[in-house]
Amino acid sequence: MSLGYAEKLSYREDLGGQLGAPEIFDQDEALNANAQHLSGMIRDSKTVVVFTGAGISTACGIPDFRGPNGVWTMQRAGKPLPKARSSFTTAIPSLTHMAIAELVRRGKVRRVVSQNVDGLHLRSGVPRDKLAELHGNCFAERCPSCKKEYIRDFEIETVGFKRTGRKCSMPGCKGRLKDFILDWEDALPEDELVASEEAASAAALAICLGTSLQITPACDLPLRTPKAGGKLVIVNLQKTPKDKKAALLIHGRADEVMRAAMSRLQIPIPPFVRQDTFLINIAQQSGGRKGTAVEVRVSSTHGPECAMPLVRAVDICFPENDTLRPASLERQPFVVKRVMPWPGELSMRITLHLVETIEEQYRTVDHTCTVSIAAPGIPTRACSTASDEQAVQKSKRRKILIEQCERVTAITQKVLYS
Ligand SMILES: [Zn+2]
Repeated sequence: MSLGYAEKLSYREDLGGQLGAPEIFDQDEALNANAQHLSGMIRDSKTVVVFTGAGISTACGIPDFRGPNGVWTMQRAGKPLPKARSSFTTAIPSLTHMAIAELVRRGKVRRVVSQNVDGLHLRSGVPRDKLAELHGNCFAERCPSCKKEYIRDFEIETVGFKRTGRKCSMPGCKGRLKDFILDWEDALPEDELVASEEAASAAALAICLGTSLQITPACDLPLRTPKAGGKLVIVNLQKTPKDKKAALLIHGRADEVMRAAMSRLQIPIPPFVRQDTFLINIAQQSGGRKGTAVEVRVSSTHGPECAMPLVRAVDICFPENDTLRPASLERQPFVVKRVMPWPGELSMRITLHLVETIEEQYRTVDHTCTVSIAAPGIPTRACSTASDEQAVQKSKRRKILIEQCERVTAITQKVLYS
């Protein structure tokens, strides 16, 4: 599995801060006492802000940067980069992500400020307006004209605010979208930074989870809370330069600490349910003397040209019509065209073969449907919106969409977190 994001960043000799510092683990008794202390602080604080770093995503199969086997640590040592067990696309949120999402849902955590670009906070259900992504998001692209942000289900191809090649789809805009991922030299996005500063200053409690707090200005943000009279908690396996400012310091894995703290708060951590959407289009076109041409297309809901990283292959068959050959499509675009010799009902079964992930083995999803195919040149849908004559003229030139369906598949995490 490649480390797409780290490899896309420009090469930099000076990575700043300390790399590969040893990890410290609190003994069980101390960890439990600390988790108890943390749960009490969460309970007693009216407003909480959470700061997160790469340490909360290592449990998802994504390597961190500055740990003993982190990406930058290995790069500095001239060793091969660590292998990711999961790509950003197929990774599922960790226990910590889900615990944070639940605390946000309950109104306890007012804002989550993350240095992570893996998109897992959004995937876990944290609403966009409660999240500040200081270093961007590998799944986001933004329109420079109208500021609309699009969250995709595929990784954006570029980093450093470059044009992605896609256009804004807001009515009347057509702005050229740019990625929303910082490269080394890029300044932090102003809107995310201001929101983080305000949240940190207003919070009674700031909790830092899995961040080595070494990169400015992100590492200085949590200090605004103690400066304004609140408290700071740091949960990390390595020492950080801000440890002295913390009212509570916990050396433990974020998941273990959050599991214990949520249990003491008696707040169940919800399971993660992933929902993916695919678009199925069925269109017809006058097919000449042989009949009516029918086109079945399975595509991304983000646009017909967009990648579908979760779909490995698509099978399409027509169980009640022997004359129409079934199709096995192994690469995009997933499109099949068949000529229906006479008008009538056409049944089809579309099977999506999804990619394997670390949580789930190879899986298929079936979609069955029946559509009405009109005689050549007289598409059903077009006749209802234009005169028959116009429709016939139009159909000679164009495909007419007769069914569009957004298929949603849910992948449920088998292991419950609580
Ligand atoms: Zn726009």
